[in-house]
Amino acid sequence: MPQTVSLVIPVYNESGVVEQFHAQLRQVIDALPDEFGILYVNDGSSDGTAEELEKVAEADQRVTVLELSRNFGHQAALSAGLARAEGDVVISLDGDGQHPPALIPEMLKLVEQGYDIVQTQRLDDAQGASFKHITSRGFYWLINRMSGTLIQPGAADFRAMSRRAVDALVSMPEYHRFLRGMVAWIGFPTVILPYLPPERLGGSSKYSLKKMLKLASDAVFSFSLMPLYLGLSLGGLFLFLAVLEVIYVLSFWVTGRQSTLEPGWSSLMFVLLIVGGVIMILLGFIGMYIGYIFQEVKRRPVFIVRREYGGENSESASQRVGESRKRELTDR
Ligand code: UDP
Ligand code: MG
Repeated sequence: MPQTVSLVIPVYNESGVVEQFHAQLRQVIDALPDEFGILYVNDGSSDGTAEELEKVAEADQRVTVLELSRNFGHQAALSAGLARAEGDVVISLDGDGQHPPALIPEMLKLVEQGYDIVQTQRLDDAQGASFKHITSRGFYWLINRMSGTLIQPGAADFRAMSRRAVDALVSMPEYHRFLRGMVAWIGFPTVILPYLPPERLGGSSKYSLKKMLKLASDAVFSFSLMPLYLGLSLGGLFLFLAVLEVIYVLSFWVTGRQSTLEPGWSSLMFVLLIVGGVIMILLGFIGMYIGYIFQEVKRRPVFIVRREYGGENSESASQRVGESRKRELTDR
């Protein structure tokens, strides 16, 4: 059944690439029966990207261009596009050709089969030995040990989402956005689609080391409270050491060797370990409160409804969740 599909494509300084990419995209979608809307988000490009997008929009009626006021970063540009997209299905992909448009038909088929999220996964991360591959593997290892939300290693921001999944994602108003984690967090039936990323069509990566570090820290700090709770475990460890120290000192008394103990050592050591332990545990408590405050200020929805059925009114519940949220956001 044909459906309306929005394509969300963030671009930053991709002059010389945009037109090539668009031609590649057209080849794929022109052969499909669905109605497409193509939304390019110009993330404050400072080269000729804006002019090229104008040309593309002039030649293709399906193209809309959203220009951000400055460079806000990939995740923010994607969020802007997702909030604006209106299709029954929304597909996000990079504008540099590394997310092959040739996968779109298969993604749409999977959505039609009932998956709300078709998440692609880069295959080269498993074998590659370049700086990017190694840091990427290390990053996913770390985040999956720290966070309660499972984030697929090699997950790319190349995915298809049903309307209700997009509504759920847009209803998360948090400022620091790590979309791969947020998409995993909202749940819904998900399928992983592996792919081999082709080379860039031209130009070079716009993800500087600084931008990569920011993405990683957004991921760690918005999907894990573990760093805040470190004090609790350290405090526990210190109290345990205090117990060991008491046993050690007692062993001298039991065997009658107490005179060999340095005077003052036992009591000083004991007080040090106890005081250190208590301070760290109290810091851990403060960390827990800050963690709770942090979760509150993120203002994530408390739950997301997948489906509601039966009863008189069969309007989908998830839609209503999205609607009420939208109203709330515009009321503010
Ligand atoms: N991008 C963006 N804003 C930025 C950085 C990148 O919109 O601040 C876009 C970029 O134009 C591309 C996509 O995000 O379409 C992915 O960036 P890139 O290809 O540079 O990342 P890589 O594939 O090297 O990880
Ligand atoms: Mg790329």
